[in-house]
Parts: sequence; structure tokens; C-alpha cells
Amino acid sequence: MTPLVYLNGKFVPKWEAKVSVFDHGLLYGDGVFEGIRAYSGRVFRLDEHLQRLYRGARAILLEVGMTHEELREAVLESLRVNNLQDAYIRLVVTRGIGDLGLDPRKCSQGCTIFIIADAIQLYPEQMYQEGLELITVTTRRNDVTALNPAIKSLNYLNNILAKIEVVRAGLHEGLMLSADGYVAEATGDNIFLCTRGRLVTPPTSIGILDGITRDAVMQLAPEMGIVVEEKLLTQYDVYIADECFLTGTAAEIIPVVKVDGRLIGDGKPGPVTRELMARFHDLTRKEGVPIS
Ligand code: PMP
Repeated sequence: MTPLVYLNGKFVPKWEAKVSVFDHGLLYGDGVFEGIRAYSGRVFRLDEHLQRLYRGARAILLEVGMTHEELREAVLESLRVNNLQDAYIRLVVTRGIGDLGLDPRKCSQGCTIFIIADAIQLYPEQMYQEGLELITVTTRRNDVTALNPAIKSLNYLNNILAKIEVVRAGLHEGLMLSADGYVAEATGDNIFLCTRGRLVTPPTSIGILDGITRDAVMQLAPEMGIVVEEKLLTQYDVYIADECFLTGTAAEIIPVVKVDGRLIGDGKPGPVTRELMARFHDLTRKEGVPIS
């Protein structure tokens, strides 16, 4: 069966799902998006993803043109028509079709909205068993006062430049610092450290995405009796941590065992990370909006 893509209110076959070359999402990265996941017939934290999308839209003065409820139903229907129970869902809202100028008022026909629901592509299992190696990239995360990384905008060039450095180093992920040199996040994931039994993660005010998976970890850790603190972190804090892991919708929770040539802890995924991975797995199967 050819996968069906939701595009502006209709389901169209994958190969017919096209947008205009005058769409400002394409011309300028003007728009917002979400990456969402479904597990065993349930969409994990769907409403939280939609709320983040609407927050970003509000920040860039983008009128989505569909209500939260309508968008929610469109996401669920995308899974139903494609007969998917476990999937990765990309929801994109662009400013729509305009002219060659920046002026968003020219996009008078309204947003382009599309939803792609696809079979999930996991990182190799080995990466979860053995952990990742990171390097700190030279590309700094967008400054909060310029383009706040809390907005999951279609303009991901900042992250792509960082990813290019990571790929050139032969690795899978990299550590991005804020403009003033504090630990921010990875190119597509949030970061946590575990030091002397406490979890620490950078505050959102530093300029990171307020990750849905980050939030889930901050909920799970206290249930394990582990304190979580949001605080400014330096590379030194990373190097001396007992454990380190990344969180994201696509990556879930993935251990980090080496950063800039320094082994983290004993160089193996630690017990707190492993326990959180197991608990997150359970949470994703029991929580979530049922598809049907
Ligand atoms: N930071 C960035 C830059 C990301 O792109 C993502 C992925 N959406 C995350 C963090 C993790 O966020 P979430 O857990 O909501 O997927």
C-alpha cells in the first residue's frame, strides 16, 4: 500500500504530496514542526506536542488555521489510514504560499499543513547497549535573544551545521554549547548528567528545546527517588559525570559513554540510565492517546 500523507485537509499518496516552490516554509524555513511517536497503538504525549507547536506558532505570529482538536484528529487519522500502530509522525505547519519577499502578510492563502506518518526507524540496537560517543561541536546553539531554540522552527540550519561537524568526525551526535559556552543540548536531543546520584540538565532559559522526552525523564526520576536539578553546566561537568544520556522522541533515552575523548564514568551505560530506559519504555506503552 502506498503511504498516505495528510496535506491541507486531504490524504494523498506519498508521491503526490507536494508543496509549492513559493511556500515560505521552503523559501525561508518560516514555520514550525513536531516529531511525535506512536507506540503499540498509542500516541505518546500527543497533546504536549501539539501545545508546543501552538506555542511556537504564537511566538512567530503564525495562525495555524486548525484547532488543537482538529490537528489531534488529523494526526490520529494519519495513523489509521496508514494502518500504523508504531510510527514516527512529522507534523509541519508552514507560513504557506507567498511571494519572493520575506513579508509573511503575502502568505494570504494561509498555512500549509502536512503530516507524514511513517514506520519507525530506530538507531541500531548496539548504540543503546554500548552507548554513544560525542564531540563538542564548534557551532554554538542559536542565541535565545536572536532565535529562541524553544521554537521548533523549520529553520534547523543551526543544528544541521552542528550535525555536519559530527558526521565529519565519524560520530552520530554532538554536544552544542550556548553562545556563552554553557552546555545546551545535542543536535536533536536534550542532555542529562548523573553525578553522585543526582540528575542534572541545563535549564530551558539557556536556549534549548523543552523536550517532551526530557519532561518524561524529569517525571520518572523522582519516582526512582532521584533528585533532578536544572542548572548551568560546563564541559567540565560533563567530563566528570558518572553517567550521561540524551533524550528525544526519535532517540528515546540513549546512553553517552565518551565525550571529547574522555570516558564518562567507566565508559559503559550506567545503572541510572538503564533504569530510566526501562521505565521510559514502560511509560510509552501505558500512556498515550489511543489511535482508534
Ligand atoms: N532538542 C532538539 C534540538 C530537538 O530537535 C529535539 C527533538 N525534537 C529535542 C531536543 C528533543 O525533544 P523531544 O523529546 O520533544 O523530541
